Amino acid sequence: MKVYLNGAFVPLEDAKISVLDRGFIYGDGVYELVPVYAREPFRLPHHLARLQRSLDGIRLQNPHSDAQWTALIRELIEAQPFADQGVYLQVTRGVAKRDHAFPVGVPPTVFMMSNPLATPPADQVARGVAVVTAEDNRWRRCDLKTTSLLGNVLMRQLAADAGAVETVMFRDGYLTEASSSNVLVVIDGLIVAPPKDNLILPGITYDAAIDFAREGGVPFEIRPVTREEALGADEMWLSSSTKEVLAVTNVDGQPFAGGKPGPVFRRAWKAFQEAKGAVTA
Ligand code: PMP
Repeated sequence: MKVYLNGAFVPLEDAKISVLDRGFIYGDGVYELVPVYAREPFRLPHHLARLQRSLDGIRLQNPHSDAQWTALIRELIEAQPFADQGVYLQVTRGVAKRDHAFPVGVPPTVFMMSNPLATPPADQVARGVAVVTAEDNRWRRCDLKTTSLLGNVLMRQLAADAGAVETVMFRDGYLTEASSSNVLVVIDGLIVAPPKDNLILPGITYDAAIDFAREGGVPFEIRPVTREEALGADEMWLSSSTKEVLAVTNVDGQPFAGGKPGPVFRRAWKAFQEAKGAVTA
């Protein structure tokens, strides 16, 4: 498999970085995951805009223009033998003697790889998925897509321990997101999504779901969602670049929303499949 590291496309086995890389020592970096359908990246400008936002948030200069990123990503996509891909890219604050303060004059480390895109299995789409819930104990800059993911990793493990796919989090009585996806709910036919503030990642798939609602005439509202509203909602969805949209049908071991995906979910899922098709049309 060919990956990209600091200016060169190399076999994965030859991609080596220093143990002093600040990504390794501090998790001092940001990343993106771009889904690619039939070799066409999905909503790439949105991902590059979010990358810029994350870089600004950690005060790291963007090493490439959007045009350069686009060319590099296309070259990486072409170097893979499979058509549907998940392009992972990360930028860290580079290699320097260990010291918390930013190093001066150190180039960032840029790494990209692309793996086969694993979309949700048909039975997860048809039957929905199980989640567990937990209090959100992460930092207050969850809007930045940083490689410091320990908070999210520990949250996801709660789900893995319970045989569930995600951990849905609440902070001070309000829904935030899940360990690696956004969460939207449906109440009385209305899609309700938590605001894209500092407590959640501004998901590209979340935006896509809201766009589908707007285009399809499904009413939606962006506002804080209480725990009681979320747990009493008619539908709950997970959204992410790899999960697309998935219905939640079991919460903390109990059937949720009648134990099957709801009608609004089915519309959103269909709209998502059509949007994927349009990318490659
Ligand atoms: N929240 C978190 C914490 C995430 O890690 C992700 C991405 N996996 C998302 C939300 C969804 O973002 P996107 O739709 O851009 O994949």
